[in-house]
Amino acid sequence: MFLQLGSMSESRSPETTSSLPMGPPHGPMKTSQDNVELCRRHQLCLGEQTHLEALNKGSFGHPELCRKPCQFFHLGTCAMGRSCGYCHMPHTGSPATLDRVGRVTLRKLPAGRTLELFLPILYARAEESDLMMEAAPLLAMLAQAEAQSEATSHPAAKKSSDRDPFKEIRKTLRKMTFSELVGLLCRNCDKEAFVPQVTEELMSLRENCADRVLI
Ligand SMILES: [Zn+2]
Ligand SMILES: [Zn+2]
Ligand SMILES: [Zn+2]
Repeated sequence: MFLQLGSMSESRSPETTSSLPMGPPHGPMKTSQDNVELCRRHQLCLGEQTHLEALNKGSFGHPELCRKPCQFFHLGTCAMGRSCGYCHMPHTGSPATLDRVGRVTLRKLPAGRTLELFLPILYARAEESDLMMEAAPLLAMLAQAEAQSEATSHPAAKKSSDRDPFKEIRKTLRKMTFSELVGLLCRNCDKEAFVPQVTEELMSLRENCADRVLI
């Protein structure tokens, strides 16, 4: 049965007719005006429960900036609720992961080369996801770290091979979200001075883009 909107729903209060027809309307006692506004902007209302769950920290910025999916939530219920640090929004398909060769290659790569590999992909991803402005401070930190590592390390001997040794890695990286890319980069450069700063910046980027949820 369709939920009739507009002139057919005179018996409903004006507040309830404005919710999307995919679930029960917001209960005025349960939802603050702020939450209703937030929901309208990202068109996320699948019913009050889903809406509130969607606002847990781990879901902020889904799907580009959220954290990995919460196992508990997707199996039924997550006791952490809104304080849960993992994503409660639907994630279809398995996340892009590097194969063993890719992981080993990346692990052995000096930080400067890793940054060189990740940066163009991160810029492209930010551009595609309309995050250039919000992600600018984080990208600047990484660009600076790359510039510094170039200044201090010996220049790598340029091999005039036409085979790109990172072709497969790049292919996988291009399937990753901005958040996944930054996470993977930081894990592979865990001894580097830029990592704590960048990790913190990723968290504030997530907070700033909390309501930019797309489903
Ligand atoms: Zn809602
Ligand atoms: Zn997500
Ligand atoms: Zn959870």
